Amino acid sequence: MGALPKRKLSKGRRDRRRSQDKLSVPSLGICPKCKKAKRSHFACEYCGFYGKVEKTESKAEPKSK
Ligand SMILES: [Zn+2]
Repeated sequence: MGALPKRKLSKGRRDRRRSQDKLSVPSLGICPKCKKAKRSHFACEYCGFYGKVEKTESKAEPKSK
């Protein structure tokens, strides 16, 4: 027999370990040039565009700090 774990891992510990195992879904964005789904922070697969479309809306909120 090979090496075996000394104790049974409780469901909680096992599940907590496995909670880290899942691969995250790549964050998808939409290419502003050809409007196809592309990975954000990557160049577009279809047209090779990489860049941002400038938004004119200002997100500056007046904060009373
Ligand atoms: Zn594109």
